[in-house]
Parts: sequence; structure tokens; C-alpha cells
Amino acid sequence: MHRILLCDPLDESGLEIFRDAGVELRQLGDGDSEREQLPEIVADFDAIVVRSRTQVTADLLRRGRNLKVVGRAGIGVDNVDIPAATDLGILVVNAPTANLISATEHTFALLLALARNVPAAERSLRAGEWDRKRFIGLELDGKTLGVVGLGRIGQAVAHRARAFGMKVVAYDPYLDPLVAKRLEIEMAPLEAVLAVADVVTLHLPLTDETRHLISAERIARMKPGSMLVNCARGGIVDDRALLEALESEHLAGAALDVFEVEPPVDRRLIDHPRVVSTPHIGAQTREAQERVATQTARMVLAALDGSLAVTAVNLPFRAAGPGGEPYLRLSEQLGRLASSLLGGSLKKLQVDLWGVDEELHGAVSIAAVRGVLRPFLGEAVNFVNAEKLAEDRGVEVVRATHRQAAEYSSLIGVTVTGARGTVELAGTVFGESDLRVVRYDDYRLEFRPEGRLLVLSNRDVPGVVGKLGSLLGEAGVNIADIHLARGSANREGEVDAVAVLRLDQRPAEAVLDRLRALPEVSKAQLVDLE
Ligand code: NAD
Repeated sequence: MHRILLCDPLDESGLEIFRDAGVELRQLGDGDSEREQLPEIVADFDAIVVRSRTQVTADLLRRGRNLKVVGRAGIGVDNVDIPAATDLGILVVNAPTANLISATEHTFALLLALARNVPAAERSLRAGEWDRKRFIGLELDGKTLGVVGLGRIGQAVAHRARAFGMKVVAYDPYLDPLVAKRLEIEMAPLEAVLAVADVVTLHLPLTDETRHLISAERIARMKPGSMLVNCARGGIVDDRALLEALESEHLAGAALDVFEVEPPVDRRLIDHPRVVSTPHIGAQTREAQERVATQTARMVLAALDGSLAVTAVNLPFRAAGPGGEPYLRLSEQLGRLASSLLGGSLKKLQVDLWGVDEELHGAVSIAAVRGVLRPFLGEAVNFVNAEKLAEDRGVEVVRATHRQAAEYSSLIGVTVTGARGTVELAGTVFGESDLRVVRYDDYRLEFRPEGRLLVLSNRDVPGVVGKLGSLLGEAGVNIADIHLARGSANREGEVDAVAVLRLDQRPAEAVLDRLRALPEVSKAQLVDLE
């Protein structure tokens, strides 16, 4: 009989599924003393189920000698050490689609509350006042809604906004324009959306690229008197810049469910008279809680029974078969790197496999799909929904298998094509688990697909490496390793080259701009594969 430990409370609907399956269930007590014993208790269980409170650290996973599955009842897996789970062969499953409608509807709850001053009017009425003049609101009808991030929630919001008579204009550089066309949604560059929208609503994940996407400069480009709604993730908006824009009255108001620091320590935003806010409750509905609990319970049980048809965040060694895990990791990292280097919307992914064990073909190509989507879809992409998400977004996925490559016993090629061109990478596994990229477009080089990589295209002339070293050194950025490759000469005798540098620190955008300004450098991209 499977033994399952519930570390955080789970909705009754999920408990029922566990009980019906006849598993042994234990709920960890809420008191600190029992929580402190968790590292000892965990050793007896086959699976643990957590929400966001319990930190599933590498140490806790190691102490779970019998642990096979971690169920995360929700989307985000920030509180679970995924690489450690993968190394230990522990499957991590989550419930990524349970709260889409709840978050969509909450966006409107906030938007309408903001437009019609509902919270302030309610407070005034409770205080015994009857003041109708103070609460002159705005109609949504005829206004323009700027949707930033046109994924599942963004599309659902756009659909409902039309029912309110709103005009919708959206920005999503990673969505195939044909998908937007089919949805009959007008797409525009971010600056144009900000300039025309009466209300800007955010529906994108928090990634390296989207952190402070709504910065002071971008807020300044928003239409004067417009409003901002953030029901996505804290950190996408620079909260200080937003506060300043509200204080200067450049923005008429903001509705926020999420904050850079949660719960907010600096209360000036939530106390601001033109801010409507809620404590990250976008997913807090009866239905979403039930769906999270039932999806998680079903996934944990299926995973314990050895099914691969689960919404797994990782596919550990055990699931991929002996020796498979490094190939899955390589394929995913090649996908992440290729799609980050490409940038913009993706049309096609080709996965080429040379000499890779036939049993791994399916899993390796799914890992590549997950990898290419992750830079712009974040953690919501798992091994089960990756292919479906790619299909929904109009990305064609092609897999080709070949006999062993001449120079390597096995080789994985990932080629991505999109609006901005094509990027081709190939990699292999040295020894048991040493991952290497061995080709980037026409260049042959060798580097590990991990860490913070600075990828440069430059002219092959003396002194480039020295200049890079000084510029990064002056900025306090240490180069951990560097890999160079040169192409063939063009008619003028000029030779192009690429340099891949692994950095210990993340350089500031200004440092990258200075690198890009070097006459020998034609392109400099920072890709974080941590
Ligand atoms: P999704 O993956 O379906 O869509 C995200 C979209 O953002 C994608 O289409 C992607 O191409 C786009 N995107 C990525 N980077 C972008 C960029 N730099 N500029 C513009 N667009 C970009 O995700 P979803 O399920 O629709 O969720 C959207 C957001 O809502 C996520 O951040 C999610 O965590 C959040 N969310 C919040 C709550 C809550 O409680 N408030 C609940 C559910 C979801």
C-alpha cells in the first residue's frame, strides 16, 4: 500500500480521491514541533504532497529514502528543488491548468472594482456616508484594453473584454501572429500597446526577460490617465516606479493581485487611494482549489503506479529508463538555449537524433519541446502539456532519427526557426552525464549548456578577448570559462567568430550595451540556463 504524507492542507475533494484509492494517508500537523520532525518523518513515505508552505529542499528529498513522487498542489514549483529531485529519481508533478478561469475572472473583479471605485465607495458607505459625487467611475465600453502576454489567461481575458464592448490590442512576441489572427486580436509592439491602451493588463510569466518589463520608462510611455492591472506575477512591474506614476497622477489607478515582495513590506502602494489590491487570490476560488486538489491527487496516484501520463515537471532517471536522464536534460537545455538565442516567435522545432537509444526518442523530443517553450512560458510547461502547448501556439515539431553520427556515439540536434531566423545547436553526453554543446550554427565548439552564458558573434580580429575581459572585469563580472570558434573567411577575407563565456555574475544591461557597442561585436546575448 502506498504511503502518502500531506505536508500542507489539501481540499477535501483531493483527500477523497486518496481515500478511495485505499492509500495510507497522514496529514502533517500544523504545529512547529511536528514540522521540525519532517526530515525524520518523511523517510517512511512514498509520496509527499505540498502547497507553497513546505520547502522541499535537497536535504528533505535525500532523507525521503522511499520517496518516489512529490505532488505540488498548484503551478509554481519554486519551493521544490527540482534538480535534486531529478538526480534522486523523484518525480515532481503539479496542477498547471487548475486556476486559469479563476485568474481570468479575478482580473475582471479587479478591473471593474478599479473603474467604479468599488472598495472606496463601500468603505465610505460603511462609515455612514452617502457620497455619490466622489465616486465618479469609468465605463469599460468603448475603451481599449492592452493585453500584455496573450497566452491562456490573456486570451480568455481578451475574449471576455469584448463582451464589455472593449477594443483589444495585444503584445506577445512569442505567439505566432497567425494564432492572434485566428483569434481576431490585433497585435502591436509593446510601446504601441502602452501608448494606446486605456487599461493595460498583464498575463505573462515572471522570467529573466519579464522582470521589471513594466519599468519607469515603459510606464512613462503609457497613455496619461490610463490604468494598470497585474494579476500575473509580482516583479513584472517595478512597484516603486508604479507608485511614482500614481503619485504624479500620470496613471489614474492600478489594480494589483501580486507584488514584488509578498506580503508587501512597503505598504505605500496598497495604501494608495487609487490602488485596488488583493493578497494574491487570483487562484483562490472553490472551483480552482477543488481542481488543484483533484488533479494533484490523481497525478500522485498515477505516478506512484508508474504511469508516465502525468503532469510531471521533471522526468527523472527512473522514468526515462536507465541512462536516459542526461539525454533528456541535454535535449531540454539545447531547446532552452536555442529558443533564447532565437528570440521572438517560434514557427518550427526540429529535433535530430543520431545514435540515441530508441526507447528515449519520444521523451528526448518532448524534453526539447519543453526546453524551447520554457524561456517564454516559464514553469507552467511540463512533460505532458509541452507538445499540446506547442501545437496550440502553432509551432510545428519535427523529429528525425539517424544512424550514429560519425564523430560522436550519440548526438542530439535542435533547430529552431521563427520570425527572426534559424538557430541550430547540437550536443552530446560525454561519459555518463557530462553534457556538451558541440555545434552552434556552422561553428564547432564545446561548452556545457549550464549557468549564465554570454554568447557573442564577433569579427575574428586580435584583441577581442582582451576587450571583453577588461569590460567585464571593470564591471566586477568574473569569467568562469570561455569557448571560441571561428567560421570560414568571406570574399573580403573577413572571418566571423563566436565566443561563449560562462559568467559568475550577471552583468547589468548597461555593460551588455557597452559590449554590443564594440566595433568587433555584432551580437551579444545573455542566456541564463540556471
Ligand atoms: P501562458 O503560459 O498560457 O501564457 C503566457 C504568455 O506570456 C505566453 O503566450 C508567452 O508567449 C507570453 N510572454 C512570455 N514572455 C513575454 C514577454 N516578454 N512579453 C510579452 N509576452 C510574453 O500563461 P497563463 O496560464 O496565461 O498565465 C499568465 C500569468 O498569470 C502567469 O504569470 C501565471 O503565473 C499568472 N497566474 C496568476 C494567478 C494569480 O493567482 N494571480 C493565477 C494563475 C496564473
